[in-house]
Amino acid sequence: MAADSNHPGNGPCKPASPKQASARSREAAGSNETLDGKTEVLQGAAPSFSQEDADAMRLALKQAEEAKALGEVPVGAVVLDETGKIIGTGFNRTITGHDPTGHAEIVALRQAAQALGNYRLPQASLYVTLEPCAMCVGAILHARLDRVVYGAADPKTGACHSVLNVPAIAQLNHQTRFESGLLAQECGDLLRDFFRDRRKSGRLRES
Ligand SMILES: [Zn+2]
Repeated sequence: MAADSNHPGNGPCKPASPKQASARSREAAGSNETLDGKTEVLQGAAPSFSQEDADAMRLALKQAEEAKALGEVPVGAVVLDETGKIIGTGFNRTITGHDPTGHAEIVALRQAAQALGNYRLPQASLYVTLEPCAMCVGAILHARLDRVVYGAADPKTGACHSVLNVPAIAQLNHQTRFESGLLAQECGDLLRDFFRDRRKSGRLRES
C-alpha cells in the first residue's frame, strides 16, 4: 500500500497530480473500475485506523444507504465529538432537497454545529464515505474540524488529494488532518453499484 493513500497524523495531504494519484490508487487497489463504473480509482484500506474509526465509518455507510433508498447518490457522513459521541449525521440529499449544497458532510456539520451551539467544532472528527469536494473541504475548514477520515477517493471532484489538494495549501488559516482509505472498498462498491443500477434502468446516460 502506498503511503500516499493515507495521511494519518501528518497534516495536509502531500501535493499530487490527478494522474499521480490515479496511478497510485490503481496500484493500491488492483481494480479497474471507477465509482461511476467507467474508469477506476480506489484506495486500499489503511491498516492504521482504530476500531472506533471503523465503527464510525460503518455508521457513515448506513447513512449512505439512506441516501440510496431515496435515489440519491449514496454518500454518508457522521461527526463525532472528542469523546466519540455522535453529534451529527448526514447523507446526500441534493436531488430531494433541490439543494446543490446538500452534501452529506454539510448536512452532518450543520447538525453537529446546532448540537453544540457553535459553528466551530475544533475537537470534532468527521467520517465520510467519499472524498470531500472543494465545497465540503471549505466547510470543514470553516468549522475548524480536528480530523476528517474518508473512504473512497473521488477522481472527479475530490479536493483532498484526487483532483485538488486543498488541505495541502499552507496559507490556509486552519489545518485539519485528512486521512483516507478507511473501508474504501465498501464505500466505493456502494457508489459503483448505485451507478450501475442507474445505467441499467436507463436513468443515467453514458457520457
Ligand atoms: Zn461535497
